[in-house]
Amino acid sequence: MPNQTVETQARFAAIEKAISRQPRKFDVPKDDLGRSLSVSDYFGQYTFGVKEIKSAISKADYEKFIELTSLGKPLEKDLADKIAKAVRNWAMEMGITHFCHWFQPMTGTTAEKHDAFISFNDDGSTIEKFSGSQLIQSEPDASSFPSGGIRTTFEARGYTAWDPTSPMFMMTSTNGRTLCIPSAFVSYHGHALDEKTPLLRSIEALSTNACELLKLLGSKDVKRVTATLGVEQEYFLIDRTYFGLRPDLILAGRTLQGARPPKGQELEDHYFGSIPSRVTAFMQEVEFELYRLGVPAKTRHNEVAPAQFEIAPIFEDANVSVDHNHLIMEMLTKVARRHEFVLVLHEKPFAGINGSGKHNNWSMSTDSGENLLEPGATPHENLRFLVILASILKGVHSHNGLLRASIASVGNDHRLGANEAPPAIMSIFLGDQLNMIMDKIKSGEAIENAERAMINLGVSKLPLLTKDNTDRNRTSPFAFTGNKFEFRAVGSSASCSLPITCLNAAVAESMAEITAEISQKMKSGKEMSLAAMEVIREVVQKHSQIRFEGNGYSAEWIVEAERRGLTHYRDTPEALDAFTLASTKNLFTKLKILTEEELASRHHVQLERYVKKVDIETEVMKTLVDTYITPAVNSYISDLSEALIRQREAGFEKSPTEQLIKKILDAYSDIAKKRKSFEELQVAANTLDSEYKKAEAQAKKVLPAMLELRDACDKIEVMVGNGYWPLPKYREMLFCF
Ligand code: ADP
Ligand code: MG
Repeated sequence: MPNQTVETQARFAAIEKAISRQPRKFDVPKDDLGRSLSVSDYFGQYTFGVKEIKSAISKADYEKFIELTSLGKPLEKDLADKIAKAVRNWAMEMGITHFCHWFQPMTGTTAEKHDAFISFNDDGSTIEKFSGSQLIQSEPDASSFPSGGIRTTFEARGYTAWDPTSPMFMMTSTNGRTLCIPSAFVSYHGHALDEKTPLLRSIEALSTNACELLKLLGSKDVKRVTATLGVEQEYFLIDRTYFGLRPDLILAGRTLQGARPPKGQELEDHYFGSIPSRVTAFMQEVEFELYRLGVPAKTRHNEVAPAQFEIAPIFEDANVSVDHNHLIMEMLTKVARRHEFVLVLHEKPFAGINGSGKHNNWSMSTDSGENLLEPGATPHENLRFLVILASILKGVHSHNGLLRASIASVGNDHRLGANEAPPAIMSIFLGDQLNMIMDKIKSGEAIENAERAMINLGVSKLPLLTKDNTDRNRTSPFAFTGNKFEFRAVGSSASCSLPITCLNAAVAESMAEITAEISQKMKSGKEMSLAAMEVIREVVQKHSQIRFEGNGYSAEWIVEAERRGLTHYRDTPEALDAFTLASTKNLFTKLKILTEEELASRHHVQLERYVKKVDIETEVMKTLVDTYITPAVNSYISDLSEALIRQREAGFEKSPTEQLIKKILDAYSDIAKKRKSFEELQVAANTLDSEYKKAEAQAKKVLPAMLELRDACDKIEVMVGNGYWPLPKYREMLFCF
């Protein structure tokens, strides 16, 4: 046995511990007769939303509340106080001591600042108080949230404002309970400082423009159109003993070093395979927690990579769905701890195997619950379907660079285009049948009669559109899947807000333009369906560049996409340029989603975030090399040299040990060389005078150099004796738990 370091001993102890753990026992609460409660008994038990408000106030008050909130108008003090009282009563019943405005600053995560309900009466006695104004608005000390320069620190008075469209919920911790009030976060001057505000604005814009369009197409009583969203969340689970021994996982969320094991995901035996019992136990408890919070978790399964899993809820209104996705990430994280796992949400935690994404299933629904992407049974419904589809084609094509930018992050850069994830280029997949229809429309035989045209196209009746898995193109970043689109390029750790805001905006804009074009033709005397058919054809002809049915992972597609003029941003710093495009500024300002100032601030915040994250990674990489890998290599070489001396003493002149030492010394020199040039580039990047230049240098020079250093370290890992290696290996983290 070698002289094991404390770290190496800890690594072996971790394996031992991880493989001998039992699933954590967890029981759903029982009723009086000892039967487990069913989900419907406790679903939403920890929430206080519109339904609860309705039953707590008078009918007139409730109607007023709905009217004001649907118009986005402030509640009067009197009404707000009544609702606050109902909330307080519920909170007292639930044993809640604190409340907080729960919001989503531009850090990509959620934030909360708790206040106790406790207050004093005039006579000095204590009482739990909660006023309408406390419900509606709060002033967190906002100075340390990123604002991208919108709010200089001396006027740090950002405030949070209750979003009544998303239910309040109760968060429990070991020793207490807190009421969380979903909120938007704006500066004192009304600038959006968060992810929710632009999302809500984009939902409004989409609704307004979709209603106009539908009205023109003859659906007169549609009052509202909501974006619907169902988010499939992928994640990794790593036993916490391994996690604690990997500074890279702790600080960067991903492994910066690790040789690929001989077995990765080649056998494809993990995808949809039977879920390990420790993990099922975990999922069961996560779902229980989510149900009480009103999150409709629906499916769960193994993902493609070892130790990778997925959870997906039933779709909801986009705003609620985004909030719920944050709750899902939070609950996965919390419950993982209870099961001695650590949740890894990074987009590419392990090299050489699949990364994690967050498929955003998106559609639009009318207030009567009609899905606008559901092909219909009549020519009229299908005309509408085709107009909606044309709007999406046009919107996504016109803003393909922006949509690519909306999913850009330092983590997602490692995943996109990495051979098992959507490429870093936007395109739309429609499936055989729709694709054929689009081709026919595009080739544009003369249209005299829309009904006739629909029959010719084979869309007079379309109950069809295969929702069959076989028709699916897994390589597309934006695919039609029967009655919705799946935006697959979103990263697993990201908030869905920005991508969905951009998508809503792009489609809202193109709907307005299509409405105008159809109206124009109608003014010159054309019948509505004919005018619509013509516009559909024009749109399809102009925007078919975005359609791609082939293999998105192939090298040829990149060449082809560039030839088609689709934007190909290779990394985040490049992609963020899309925020400065005239088309982007125009889109957001025209639809009143973001002002130019707000847009510029987002660009800045994201660049800054990129630079900081890469800085962290580079520092961690040096730590790994200097304080883990180098000592391990030295100690192994020293023992080998010792062995060589002994062999020579024993008279073995030609020992293979000599070759071995030489080989390892070569690999070690390679590390030292790469370590040096990596650090030089890192230092050079940090001396640059703008965030943009820094980010660019990191993306183009520092990260590639770090990757080379990593490769050198991975090579030496498989040369150094197993008993000398301090970092838990891939095979252990991914397979031994
Ligand atoms: P798949 O066929 O991709 O497995 P599912 O039907 O299981 O798809 O749905 C995947 C996700 O898409 C789920 O979250 C589901 O609720 C959501 N989804 C289904 N219909 C819609 C819709 N109309 N709008 C938004 N999301 C939807
Ligand atoms: Mg899917």
